[in-house]
Amino acid sequence: MTSSATPVRIGIGYDVHAFGEGDHVMLGGVRIPHHRGLLAHSDGDVLLHAVCDALLGAVALGDIGRHFPPSDPRWRGADSRMLLRAVQALVQERGWAVGNLDSVVVAEAPRLAGHVAAMRANLAEDLRVGVDAVSVKATTSERLGFTGREEGIAAQAVVVLVRRP
Ligand code: MG
Repeated sequence: MTSSATPVRIGIGYDVHAFGEGDHVMLGGVRIPHHRGLLAHSDGDVLLHAVCDALLGAVALGDIGRHFPPSDPRWRGADSRMLLRAVQALVQERGWAVGNLDSVVVAEAPRLAGHVAAMRANLAEDLRVGVDAVSVKATTSERLGFTGREEGIAAQAVVVLVRRP
């Protein structure tokens, strides 16, 4: 079977941003008050960046850094939902639609449970799928490692793409 005939594609994404000065973090397009922010060229939304990389990976189109280089001033402070929608459009143009997304955010703080529903709604909207196809999980790393020391936040995402009907 040639790759073009493969009925599904899978992609993985991973991203990390370090904490710095600030009064909120952006995660899944949700502004969450916190006593620190995430250092980044864009808005530092690690979850959306991991999802972008999963989508790009599924269609073998590189990664978010290639499409939105940090050296390009256009992306300074960029709303990562805009980046996600652009990536979704790329995937769609190539004949693919999101089947489902699973993701996990690794953060000792802030607490994310109360924000997961809003993150799922944002992702579903930008990916043009139902909320039931979008999973966002939050975990700590039991105080171990850089996330456990509250030096930063990490996110992982896996996406399955299906042929558009
Ligand atoms: Mg990033």
